[in-house]
Amino acid sequence: MSKAVPESVTQLIDEFSRLPGIGPKTASRLTYYLLRSPDEQAESLAQALHELKARTRFCSICFNITEADPCPICSDTERDAATLCVVEEPLDVLAIERTREYRGRYHVLHGAISPVEGIGPENLRIRELVERVRGGLVREVILATNPSLEGEATAMYLQRQLAPLGVRVTRLARGLPMGGDLEYADEVTLTRALEGRREMN
Ligand SMILES: [Zn+2]
Repeated sequence: MSKAVPESVTQLIDEFSRLPGIGPKTASRLTYYLLRSPDEQAESLAQALHELKARTRFCSICFNITEADPCPICSDTERDAATLCVVEEPLDVLAIERTREYRGRYHVLHGAISPVEGIGPENLRIRELVERVRGGLVREVILATNPSLEGEATAMYLQRQLAPLGVRVTRLARGLPMGGDLEYADEVTLTRALEGRREMN
């Protein structure tokens, strides 16, 4: 970047550019927007970023992101502890919650098995899932990994791990766009996929 740009400006542009979906143009636009905006706005953005890391953690039961451990869903006694919905990312929990149809609990893997990216079962919260199911309360595990190659491979792997434990293992119905992310699916499609879930074997 040109010497006409102060280093602190370049630094923020670089930081924004590292975020998903933000190219150099958008990064510059955001930076110059903040430069022109009132001091309080930049301060409160900085504060929010700081608190995001300082106050959140993973729920020790489901591994969703939370400020309280266990998270509000795991500690909600109205929710069915016998049904677990397994998702790849915390945003997938939000997507399923938006349907308002699901009353069970969750387990967040934090990714999917991907040999290409060097992500194996040991890099995900799979051991914890198996332990949870071994605990004996769970009767059904709904595999809601993404309808992608990695998501399907992960579902197959989980099915093989969980079936011997005597639990019902189901997979979301087809109908979600292949290769798509659960988090972008609309509520109607997601509700149908949940309702039409089928036994894996
Ligand atoms: Zn939880």
